[in-house]
Amino acid sequence: MGPDPAYHTDSPEYEPKHREVYHDHNDCPDGKRIEKRHRKDGKGGKERCKECIRLG
Ligand SMILES: [Zn+2]
Repeated sequence: MGPDPAYHTDSPEYEPKHREVYHDHNDCPDGKRIEKRHRKDGKGGKERCKECIRLG
């Protein structure tokens, strides 16, 4: 299975380090902290999450 569609959050409820990255794995531990209602589609012009890079 390849990466999942990119998602990110701009919600101020999260720490900056969690707002400055996008995820492309649904099972990313950091990505999973983003509640569904706070998730936005796409990369949002952000850096790729380090955990997602490690997941491949
Ligand atoms: Zn991630």
